[in-house]
Amino acid sequence: MDLVFMFLDVLWLPDLIQGFVRIWPFSRFRRINKEETQIVKGLFQNEGIGKDIRIRERIHPLRDGYFHAFVFCRNIYCVKELSLAVFVHELIHVWQSKKYGSCYIYRALKAQHFTPDYSYGGVGRIKEMVRTNAPLSELNFEQQAQVFQDIYMLRMERSLPKEIWTYFVSFLRI
Ligand SMILES: [Zn+2]
Repeated sequence: MDLVFMFLDVLWLPDLIQGFVRIWPFSRFRRINKEETQIVKGLFQNEGIGKDIRIRERIHPLRDGYFHAFVFCRNIYCVKELSLAVFVHELIHVWQSKKYGSCYIYRALKAQHFTPDYSYGGVGRIKEMVRTNAPLSELNFEQQAQVFQDIYMLRMERSLPKEIWTYFVSFLRI
């Protein structure tokens, strides 16, 4: 899988492939559903970024436990059915690839996958960042995605102060 992606990366083909897999009649990509669209609206205040996204679930990784979900271009691939919390995580990767360029973000995420560091310090760190007005870029790409996944879940449980949510989503709207 990695080799395939590296090859495509070199040829600068991701967008072409993206177009192809979407019109290919046997491809099992789906558009984002209603619940997911609500999440996109909540995070970005518009649905723009969601229109482009295609999701493919229940794919078979080459090795067991190789990954759970990942983003390539604006496609989200998932081994199981995509949960809303994981959708938020992957959505942040889509946003990152829009902001920083898909090749760059793919390399960055790939590098992080060798030593995945999702741990950013938990709720304590989140509060500290809000208090000190810290930029989102203080966290690596994987941690950024994880923060949004976590604050989304806390928000669903109604145990997240509103100002924390407001603080973090403001980074997505610049
Ligand atoms: Zn991730």
